[in-house]
Amino acid sequence: MRERIDFSDVTFRYQEDAPPVLKDVDFFIDKGEWVAIIGHNGSGKSTIAKLMNGLLFAESGDVSVDGSVIHTDNVWEIRKKVGMVFQNPDNQFVGTTVRDDIAFGMENHGVPREVMLEKVAEVLRDVQMESYEEHEPHRLSGGQKQRVAIAGVLAVAPDYMVLDEATAMLDPKGRQDILETVREVQEHSDLTLITITHDLREIVAADRVIVMNEGEVWFEGTPREVFAHKDALSTIGLDVPFVAKLTQEMKKHGISFDREPLNHEEMVEELW
Ligand code: ADP
Repeated sequence: MRERIDFSDVTFRYQEDAPPVLKDVDFFIDKGEWVAIIGHNGSGKSTIAKLMNGLLFAESGDVSVDGSVIHTDNVWEIRKKVGMVFQNPDNQFVGTTVRDDIAFGMENHGVPREVMLEKVAEVLRDVQMESYEEHEPHRLSGGQKQRVAIAGVLAVAPDYMVLDEATAMLDPKGRQDILETVREVQEHSDLTLITITHDLREIVAADRVIVMNEGEVWFEGTPREVFAHKDALSTIGLDVPFVAKLTQEMKKHGISFDREPLNHEEMVEELW
């Protein structure tokens, strides 16, 4: 059995008489990968996220995690494997302190108290929030809130972590910092990262990208391959970041940068 999330010809609609919002969506995400899912507003990204951990179920086709098709009987098992971080962390906080909040998820999974406290400290270190155990989650800054939400998910030790527009409420620096943090966590663990975004800058450092358009997979490839379709991206509502646009314009006019092509880290640096 392959350890992966598998969408096999998934169709989904919210209302019986409405057209499907996902049409024959077919892709997989292997364990250990960082896959970015990008698409314009309404292209079906959040619906995909919700299908990944049993908040919604496929109308036809299958969504499976490590070989088990997600259905009503195994959602709790699936949710332990697939953690979710959403756009607005305030809707996810349940504890009055950061420590209680992170512990809550573990309590639900029956973790003993001493193990729990150790784990809280560990995951707060992972997200660079170690001195915030006693703080009230609601009073933190936007970026700090998302770090706590991420720590809460990490505490349950999922195999897959889905960040659904989790950086959308942050400023560019905050967004970049969060992505760097989750990348670092991923590099030191077996965690599989699925980041959902409508911002092309957020796909650059991913291993692989799935581009959605109107409920269908429009393209799948490396960030470099996605950027090679620059012209087409703007036709499906994705704004090409300034630097990429500029490079393209310069090329058109026969002007090239007097240097080697950028590697991933340099591209990230340039784009933000
Ligand atoms: P994205 O995350 O890419 O913005 P969504 O998955 O949220 O896209 O939405 C895909 C489509 O499904 C959109 O047309 C949206 O209006 C519709 N949709 C999303 N949620 C619901 C819902 N709860 N009821 C009905 N339609 C919905």
